[in-house]
Amino acid sequence: MSSPIRSCPELRIAVLACALAPTVASAASEASPPVPLPFETCRTDLIAWAASQAVPQGLAEAQLGSLTSDPEVLAATTSQGEFVRPLWDYIEASITPARIEAGRAKLADQAETFAAIEARYGVDRHILAAFWGVESSFGAVLDNPAVVKPVVRSLATLACGDPARAPYWRNELSAALQILAWNQAPLERMPGGLTGSWAGAMGHTQFMPSVYQRDAVDFDGDSKRDIWTSVPDALASTANYLRAHGWKPGEGWGSEALLPDGFDAALADETTPRTLTAWRALGVRPARPAAFPDEAAEATLILPAGIRGPAFLLRPNFAVILRYNTALAYALTVALLSDRLRGDPGLVCDWPRGDRVLTGDERRDLQTRLTERGFATGGVDGKIGPKTRAALRAFQGSIGLPADGYADPALLERIRGGPSTETQPK
Ligand code: CA
Repeated sequence: MSSPIRSCPELRIAVLACALAPTVASAASEASPPVPLPFETCRTDLIAWAASQAVPQGLAEAQLGSLTSDPEVLAATTSQGEFVRPLWDYIEASITPARIEAGRAKLADQAETFAAIEARYGVDRHILAAFWGVESSFGAVLDNPAVVKPVVRSLATLACGDPARAPYWRNELSAALQILAWNQAPLERMPGGLTGSWAGAMGHTQFMPSVYQRDAVDFDGDSKRDIWTSVPDALASTANYLRAHGWKPGEGWGSEALLPDGFDAALADETTPRTLTAWRALGVRPARPAAFPDEAAEATLILPAGIRGPAFLLRPNFAVILRYNTALAYALTVALLSDRLRGDPGLVCDWPRGDRVLTGDERRDLQTRLTERGFATGGVDGKIGPKTRAALRAFQGSIGLPADGYADPALLERIRGGPSTETQPK
């Protein structure tokens, strides 16, 4: 890059690790969960409870009466635990050359459908295709018998076997039974019945049953909201979801940002919106100017892998992607895949590949020590979210380090026993 722009050197010393665990599936509880009831007892309770959820009793008995628990589903819940995978590993595993090629082929094959959905909902086709690719590899996973399961059995297994989140699973089970009761799904096209992932996410863009009830649409006009076998219905449902959650037509998600040398990392606080004009005055410019047709457009700046990794200017639509899945790794994957599908090149700045990731225990230790020193992390859950990153920035600033909010082993060492020269926050 030309001289005013910060260079993004390939790191040769292993000092950085990623603490943004892609907790894509579910939040784990810190406390020990209550002991589950025997499945048969719980199943009987569910049938009685379903009546209070406007589910016809005959349907509840037919769907639940002879069910057995699915051990694979329970195993999947416990394998979600401690992700220790760098952010860039997650992103790059999801944005492969094969997926980019497949996505561009789908955009060509389904061009009329995408155009009609864009016209109706104002959501860019490349974003929709990116969700489709990340959620189901453009529908390919729906043909994989190893990952497709009967939704009612999965959700009943979880409602009974995951007591810490039982209310959530019960609510989704109720929604699934209501879909069946109201004959909304095209069961005649689905020999396996209502099918989905082990966690009950259904169809091409993996809607949970409650999301299906609220946001799925019939776009191909056959009066069925078919997110399993109708690509127009599935993609329009996702567009409808995004629009209902605040997607602004004509605006993208943002862009990678190019930072000047000596940039003050504390400005990348994730929360302060500035106009593009104001960012330019600070030396920041978008790598993809087309993402900012308007200089008055506001964006926040984020450094998800610290000052030596790529920076991103995020428009309000990025927060809508996070509504689909709250993991930053997920949202960045959708955003960056959408750019690649559009034909844009990859990142200018490479990720800071190198050192290992903090373990869950280390992340909790970091949060505990930050909190003890007065830098509130909003709890000790082993997840480096916005509050923990804000606490890290305050701690780093107090000891004269670049305040990039990035948790790595060196920073943990520093707070565990390194030179203690920080001033206490107010
Ligand atoms: Ca339809």
